[in-house]
Amino acid sequence: MSRRLLKNSRSWWRTALEKNKEEKRFKGIPISPGIFIGKAAPFIGERYAISTKRIKEEEVEEQVNLFKEAIKKARESLLGMTEQLDDRLRAILEPQIRIIDDESFYNKVINTIREERRYAEYAVKKIIEDYAIRMEYHAKDDYIKDRAKELRQIADLIIKNMRESSPTRFVLDDQDILVAYDLSVADAIRLMNSRVNAIVLEDGGKTSHTAIIVKDFRIPAVFGVKGILKEAEDETPMIVDGTRGLVFLNPSEPTIHYYKKIQKEFRSFTEGLLKIRDAMSITKDGHAVSLFVNIDFPEEVKSLEVSGKSGIGLFRTEIIFDQYKYDEEKQFEIYKSIAEEVYPHPVIIRVFDVGADKFGLYELNHIIEQNPFLGVRGIRALLKHRDIFEIQLRAILRAHREVGNIKVMLPMVSLLEEVEEAREITEEVAYKLSQELREDVLVPKFGIMVETPASAIMADKFANYVDFFSIGTNDLTQYTLAVDRKNTDVSDIYNHLHPSVLRLIKQVVEMGHEYNILVEVCGELASDPYGVPVLLGLGVDGLSVTPSSLLETKELIRRLSYEEIKPIVKDVLESSTADEVRYIIGELLKEKFPQVLKFISPDRNFNGGNHD
Ligand code: PEP
Ligand code: MG
Repeated sequence: MSRRLLKNSRSWWRTALEKNKEEKRFKGIPISPGIFIGKAAPFIGERYAISTKRIKEEEVEEQVNLFKEAIKKARESLLGMTEQLDDRLRAILEPQIRIIDDESFYNKVINTIREERRYAEYAVKKIIEDYAIRMEYHAKDDYIKDRAKELRQIADLIIKNMRESSPTRFVLDDQDILVAYDLSVADAIRLMNSRVNAIVLEDGGKTSHTAIIVKDFRIPAVFGVKGILKEAEDETPMIVDGTRGLVFLNPSEPTIHYYKKIQKEFRSFTEGLLKIRDAMSITKDGHAVSLFVNIDFPEEVKSLEVSGKSGIGLFRTEIIFDQYKYDEEKQFEIYKSIAEEVYPHPVIIRVFDVGADKFGLYELNHIIEQNPFLGVRGIRALLKHRDIFEIQLRAILRAHREVGNIKVMLPMVSLLEEVEEAREITEEVAYKLSQELREDVLVPKFGIMVETPASAIMADKFANYVDFFSIGTNDLTQYTLAVDRKNTDVSDIYNHLHPSVLRLIKQVVEMGHEYNILVEVCGELASDPYGVPVLLGLGVDGLSVTPSSLLETKELIRRLSYEEIKPIVKDVLESSTADEVRYIIGELLKEKFPQVLKFISPDRNFNGGNHD
């Protein structure tokens, strides 16, 4: 081998290993399976994920100007606010204006951009964070702590202004692993449009919307990794094991060796599944279960080219709300093209589920809710903002008129009255449209998400008003166990296998079937290998899964036998804890589909420490 080749073949791994740093292992929440071996690219900031990378010399002045513009805008908006306030409230804003006008702050930010070659948002965040930390260090009372909080709000305001004129670019290279505190849904969507290899977050729950998006794209990801940002410096060698929720910094040679092997096996496992792309989803004893996908963006429908054509059991339209809530024409085009793409299979369009951790409610009513998950969310928001609801319904009804395979679904229903009112509105919209078009406009099949305990308990009553149920186990778990689906501090309580949730599902299936209503499941439980046998045994008619889980779910269904599962599910329903359920199903999976435990959803007690 020539000297040159020899030099090139010395990977940066070796260089890192030579530095002899000690391997550190972190355990977090496994979000999206898969392995990635690379290096850390840390982002700072809680509200906005801010890159710590150095920029190129030629980008420096662009960043300086971005900052200057943003500070001007922030000043104007604060001054605008003070004009409308009384003296007491104005006094609260004054320190914030003072910092914006502070020459030393201004110069420090510009110097950091120029001298350290950093993004403007990094410089703002860093300088203000330094001030805030110093303030808190000396704080003797809550008053000073509150001032530190206000300082951080100023940083957020300036950064918000910068992002409006120049949306963040996630500049990542080949080996980079994004490490951040949290990612907003908007950032996650933006990130999916750039290349991202793996994601590690300090925060973020298992079925948070960011997690769902990341999973859609099968990007290995681990969330809830406390303390990682303190340890991961730019370019620290790193391994992400999204299957087991493990993260390694400065991995040792045996760890790297082990993961290279697993990575190879994982790849051949997923490639092997492609052979059932066009096979039916039917159990060994001939019990057919409809299999659909959930999509979060219109473009995702393309993923079906890989995994095989299927219907869409949940089209989350919140991204459309964000961009086109008042644009009926654009919405019509999107709904129509998706319906055409999957025809003759159905597409269930869930009307906007805004509020809580999803897009947009603040923009509509400018109220910051104390408890948004219990506030104006989903159908409640749509009934309050009827104009937006009607535009969406018109677009859906028009698309259905042309293609004919659309169903409408209401989110976050808790009262019968909500369904009645939404149905009346839909019928009125259909009537007006038929007058305009001078022909009949049919109301598509109409269903609800069953995702609140109220709707599950009262499913027999709801059954009289709808054509189908789709069980949203993400929220049903959240509201049944009274546990925030996004909060990592309670993520050990959040468990969709909890018998309380499963008993509710059983009841919904039975009541739905009593009234001849189709009962499907579109929450993450349907994409969880531990959930699939239980749902089959409970008799659900269909599963709607994350596109990346479609093939393994189908393979699992094909390896199970309905008659065998039924007694197992009886035991499951008698269990007292989620761990018991997991144990029972784990034994079944070990026998029927052990690869799924190895690559997708391992035994929770696996500690990954021993890879000899
Ligand atoms: C659910 O709650 O299970 C669901 C599918 O809806 P979302 O995750 O969009 O809240
Ligand atoms: Mg939901």
